[in-house]
Amino acid sequence: MNRNINMSDISDGRLYELNDMVKADCGDCKGCHTCCTGMGSSVVLDPLDIYNMTKHLNASFEKLLQDKLELNVADGIVLPNLKMEAASDACGFLDENGRCSIHPARPSVCRLFPLGRIYENGGFKYFLQVHECVNSNRSKVKVKKWIDTPDLQKNQKFVCDWHYFLKKVSEHIIESGDDSFAKKANMAILTTFFVTPYDLSKDFYEQFYERFESVEQMC
Ligand code: SF4
Ligand code: SF4
Repeated sequence: MNRNINMSDISDGRLYELNDMVKADCGDCKGCHTCCTGMGSSVVLDPLDIYNMTKHLNASFEKLLQDKLELNVADGIVLPNLKMEAASDACGFLDENGRCSIHPARPSVCRLFPLGRIYENGGFKYFLQVHECVNSNRSKVKVKKWIDTPDLQKNQKFVCDWHYFLKKVSEHIIESGDDSFAKKANMAILTTFFVTPYDLSKDFYEQFYERFESVEQMC
């Protein structure tokens, strides 16, 4: 969401697009799982993440909220995030071998890492978080290969639409101080995009945009 960060402190100063090469490939992590621990509530999930997880695990969103996920408020908006386990401070999806147990359905934040997204002018680009991955010997890889995301064109549009929609709602909540709007908008966002199950035999994006139109108008 909205963060005031000095990019020169956290990145190599470059912005990347899908066809650019970037030093992000950590060689299958080789026994490391540092970035799957101690993440607090920072791995925020979007509707596609929930669609992928519920499909992969054959479990409802409510079921995942019992132990693997939690809800938190950021910039006035309630959204789900990965929950760190109390004893280990590790993501609940990290298995006993230190590997991601939901790798094919891992959330987009995990897919990108150590890349991040920076949003500007109605779009977004990628940047390399230079202090986050402990492997300093990473190789170059094409951004679109690294993020390993099917239906890339649809996905890029979805990422933008979701981000700028939340930004608009968040700004309205903060600027207006209207608690009843905040409650109504948060309830609509949670129920429509996360709690109401998706038809997992059908394409995600079509279903998302049907829901998006109704909630966008309401908000
Ligand atoms: S979902 Fe997988 S990749 Fe992401 S933090 Fe959890 S274990 Fe790590
Ligand atoms: S810190 Fe880097 S090497 Fe370690 S698990 Fe994360 S991405 Fe892989």
